[in-house]
Amino acid sequence: MKTVFVVAAAVLLFGGCSQEGPARGTAITNVTVIDAVNAVREHQTVLFYGDQILAVTSSESLFPPPEHTIDGSGKYLIPGLWDMHVHLTYDDAFTESMPAMFLAYGITSVRDTGGLIDKLRPVIEKMRAPGAVAPRVFYSGPLLDGTFVVYDGKSRPEIGTQNATVEMAQQKVAALKDAGVDFIKIYEMVSAEVFAALVSAAQSHGLPIAAHVPLSMLASQVGPSVDSMEHLRNVELDCASNSAELYEERLSRLKNDAGASGYELRSGMHSAQRVPAILNYDEERCERTIASLKATIQVPTLRLVAYPLRSSYDHPDWNEALAQVPDTLKEDWQAATAEWLGTSDRGDTTVAQWSLSLVGRMHAQGVPIGAGTDTPIARALPGFSLHTELERLVEAGLTPLEALESATIRPAEFFSLQDEMGTIDVGMRADLVLLNANPLADISNTREIAAVITKGHVLLADDLK
Ligand SMILES: [Zn+2]
Repeated sequence: MKTVFVVAAAVLLFGGCSQEGPARGTAITNVTVIDAVNAVREHQTVLFYGDQILAVTSSESLFPPPEHTIDGSGKYLIPGLWDMHVHLTYDDAFTESMPAMFLAYGITSVRDTGGLIDKLRPVIEKMRAPGAVAPRVFYSGPLLDGTFVVYDGKSRPEIGTQNATVEMAQQKVAALKDAGVDFIKIYEMVSAEVFAALVSAAQSHGLPIAAHVPLSMLASQVGPSVDSMEHLRNVELDCASNSAELYEERLSRLKNDAGASGYELRSGMHSAQRVPAILNYDEERCERTIASLKATIQVPTLRLVAYPLRSSYDHPDWNEALAQVPDTLKEDWQAATAEWLGTSDRGDTTVAQWSLSLVGRMHAQGVPIGAGTDTPIARALPGFSLHTELERLVEAGLTPLEALESATIRPAEFFSLQDEMGTIDVGMRADLVLLNANPLADISNTREIAAVITKGHVLLADDLK
């Protein structure tokens, strides 16, 4: 039997601990390790202590022996998952329970893509408190909107702010940097001028950029300036043979002569133009548009946009999931489920079909895809919905390993953290998910969770219920 000595790493990491010192850490033994870079490694022992992986080895024993051992025989170990698109403060009924719900489903990191700083701050502080058992959280603060604000607190929750001028945009980004944000999120009502100001301010402050394509711009103009694009929104216009005509109409609507609210303006444009653009799909034009997005992570949120075709309500695990909905919302969610299951009318599925096929096309052309859900918007259950998203990504044409990549490597890359997160290697963060079944055989096996390791804390299946 070969023995691996992990002392050198331990001394390096913990300073001063000697060979005779107490055994440290937890080892998961005889496990199949799967990540998107190293693919499959069988019969491995993975040792971690604190928030770091100390060894990944095929040897059967470690010296000194670890303090704790988890038998990984017949199990699969993947890196902790990310949800790249969540809103922790969108619905007060969920804010408190969301971090634990994410962990229960193996989501050890989240990217909060829109919330007011004052509301987010206590939530972030609690999640980041030393010793807190909560996912890692990265946040943008509010949606940076234009003269008209969609999420203005009137018809929609207040998670957006106004950027009517270049000066406002510059000040806003500087203030967000001071407030400690990890990235910014650009929204749909900004002008091209304000968009450019936001991009250059973010770049000068070293902040990555997530964006919806502003309605005043084309996807191919926006993509190269931002690090991620959300929901595939507005790509359809840049793939349409009549895009020039639709775009002109858009610019005239944006003058907003009728004095509509930001929300009305935006939803009016989407309902008037999305389906007509999709019906005028132009393959050659779309190839060019997709080619312009090759360095921009697309977070399609298929669980949201392909909803009429593939609803969570139809999922075999949905009843189990419903039990986790906070009491104040339960009745509403149950009623919506009953209504869905009681009718065969799925409404217009054009956008849903288009979205699934567009993701397949983008993926085939090498566009990076990221996994996000928009939780808890449109009844996305925190945690559960990420697994739905992974299933949709596979349906769209990603392999199960590529779907895992979209929820591990891609988000790490968005934050330039790929040297710390996203794979199971020595020196990486101790965020791991132990599965009872092989996710490469069927991506829905990511739901078969035996244990979750978050920042080195071990949560066994019983702790997660
Ligand atoms: Zn969102």
